Amino acid sequence: MKGKEPLSCISCGLREGVTSPKIAPYGAGRKGILIIGEAPGAVEDKKGLPWQGRTGRMLENTLSKVGIDLFMDCVSVNAVNCRPPINRAPKPFEIDCCRAVMVADTIEEFKPKVIILLGTISLQSFLAPRWPTDLGGISKWRGFVIPDQDCKCFVVPTYHPSFISRIDSREADTVWRQDLAKAAEAAETPFPQFSQPNIRYLQDLSILDQYKEVPEIAFDYETTGLKSHAPGHRIICASVAINESLVYAFMMPPTKAERRPFTNLLINNSVGKMAHNMKFEDAWTNNRLRVQIQNWQWDSMLAAHVIDNRAGVTGLKFQTYVNFGVVDYASGITPYLRSDGSGNGFNKIYKLLDEENGVERLLKYCALDSHYEYLLAKKQMKELDYQYLPF
Ligand code: URA
Repeated sequence: MKGKEPLSCISCGLREGVTSPKIAPYGAGRKGILIIGEAPGAVEDKKGLPWQGRTGRMLENTLSKVGIDLFMDCVSVNAVNCRPPINRAPKPFEIDCCRAVMVADTIEEFKPKVIILLGTISLQSFLAPRWPTDLGGISKWRGFVIPDQDCKCFVVPTYHPSFISRIDSREADTVWRQDLAKAAEAAETPFPQFSQPNIRYLQDLSILDQYKEVPEIAFDYETTGLKSHAPGHRIICASVAINESLVYAFMMPPTKAERRPFTNLLINNSVGKMAHNMKFEDAWTNNRLRVQIQNWQWDSMLAAHVIDNRAGVTGLKFQTYVNFGVVDYASGITPYLRSDGSGNGFNKIYKLLDEENGVERLLKYCALDSHYEYLLAKKQMKELDYQYLPF
């Protein structure tokens, strides 16, 4: 049964029946670029090297236009390194096997500055284990230059050259060349590392009174569901990012008096407010805390859509990965935030709170949401050349 078998060349089986089994990574790698392709074709299988046929020439020519020599500057490996029969697409299990026996080790040993992912199969090879749901295809990912904090290198997804030659469109050619030019530029760019935020967990909110003068905050709620107006719903906890590094997180106190340092910040006209999907925080604040937020400055979800209007790219987790290279800070928590199936709009947050360290896990997740919202909003403001308008 595939999937239960060990991830090895033997269980994959593709090596039987090819001329060149397990084609090794190839190229001098002078510029520290690793190219992950899809699978060898007939010519590659015959010669025992990647990128030997027509698709390879096309890749080589376009790379040379952006100043990259395919065989001197890059190392190439494929998601699957034995030619699949009659050039069919590699299957997920074959990709898993080849990742385990070759692709992961190649990344580990070569320590690339840049990884170019060519096509959806390559994307799956590189990212599927860390992005198990909603990975989508290459058209959702192409064009980003991702500073991957786990691999400590830039990741540049783009189309596979055989797709570009098949669709034969000047527009696609141009976009593809631009993506590859970004990879060339990334190879010359110092790698940014982002430090962990300083998260402070509060019982008593009065310390928030110190921040009456800050220019802006990003904040975030975790709630019992999506319907702030529906009976029985509550804000369970909140977080407030004060700047790039400092975040407070707290369970929402039951009394108005205890909440006041937080609500005072929300109604303070001189403190700008930022959130990811501000309508959500706005509605919950109105309906549950009975205060009207003043001085909304930025919605990082809307801005993400203004910057890039493709479907599936505006979520905070996606934006956090493509902008800051941090993958999966939320996977342990998001299942609890989905509907409990009862039809009344409740999620499973109470179940999480009952679990060991449930409160701590939820607060940390909430704090990271605000932290990344803050970083994202600031980056977007720069990109869109936004002038801060004091209220
Ligand atoms: N296509 C690929 O994806 N890899 C090769 O090596 C050749 C063609």
